[in-house]
Amino acid sequence: MARNDFGPPDYRELIPPVIQKNYGQWKYHTIPRPGVLKHVSDTGDVLYSVRIASPRLVSSEYIRSISDIADTYCDGYLRFTTRNNAEFLVSDESKLEPLIKDLVAKGYMIGGGGHSISNVVHTQGWIHCKSAVTDASGIVKDVMDELHPYFTGEIKVPARLRIAVACCVNMCGACHCSDISIVGIHRTPPRVNDELLVGRCEIPTTIAACPTGAIRPNPKTKSVEINHEKCMMCANCTVVCPAIKIMDPVNDGVSIWVGGKVSNARTAPKFSRLAIPYLPNNPPRWPEVTNAVKHLVEVWAASAREGERMGEWIDRIGWERFFEKTGLPFTDKHIDDFTHATTTFRSTTQFRF
Ligand code: SF4
Ligand code: SF4
Repeated sequence: MARNDFGPPDYRELIPPVIQKNYGQWKYHTIPRPGVLKHVSDTGDVLYSVRIASPRLVSSEYIRSISDIADTYCDGYLRFTTRNNAEFLVSDESKLEPLIKDLVAKGYMIGGGGHSISNVVHTQGWIHCKSAVTDASGIVKDVMDELHPYFTGEIKVPARLRIAVACCVNMCGACHCSDISIVGIHRTPPRVNDELLVGRCEIPTTIAACPTGAIRPNPKTKSVEINHEKCMMCANCTVVCPAIKIMDPVNDGVSIWVGGKVSNARTAPKFSRLAIPYLPNNPPRWPEVTNAVKHLVEVWAASAREGERMGEWIDRIGWERFFEKTGLPFTDKHIDDFTHATTTFRSTTQFRF
């Protein structure tokens, strides 16, 4: 009989002997060079982790090739980080330099630790999701082509800067809480196919899916109708009802958000806020998006204090200065008009001209 409900493999059987031995006893770590971490234990044992960028969407050949490298230098041990970088775990110091040389020779990019721009957390895009307003892998490749010197440490930044991509406002991943987020958005209201809807959609579920109450039943057609004045083109109705379509290759595009973070270091975690309401989908290189992200990184890096994340920098200088320094236009789209929006309005006389 097939075995089921047995869960993932026990991670304790998959970690290198040096980690098994020193589990819970690590004393400190340093970053001797970008992308290389040195952990030292109470017992005096040392472990080096060499981090490389990965495109996340990889072939089995890619997995085999990095596994071969791990076999050669790391007794077969390898891990993936929470941002989908790969890390080679080296307990024999004599193998560290040969590993690094081999990785560089084979074209792998080492970096992503400490104050840097690490891998971009991203989603499925046009590769695999029916809701994708934009592509994920394409944009990420383009952005990292522009920013790779920040990954490798060739260009220094004041603090870590996290970038995320989500191909629709479902925001699978980390876009609501990243220093810079790229989010796919629609700008054309959805169209209802009445004939299809009758057989394929639950009307109460479809109505309940709308955050603005823009959908109501249409008894004449036994379908639904959408009030375009109320619709904000979130596409939630299209997720639950395949008879409602919203894709529009001309008007769809991306928005850029800034200032989110999840750590509690220095200041509380923050949500990302809207910086650029719309940029066009322009595959395959998305020049408008990559230029905007690069510009935001450069302005922040030139102005932030050491250790200051994007959101902390904006909190210090204020949003007026943020728009002034970045040269981005402030528009009505930046003003919250959803439930509890008033909490985001200024309720003080303190502001800068
Ligand atoms: S963010 Fe949206 S489009 Fe992208 S994978 Fe998630 S649900 Fe699909
Ligand atoms: S797109 Fe969003 S706001 Fe518009 S009708 Fe559908 S669920 Fe409502």
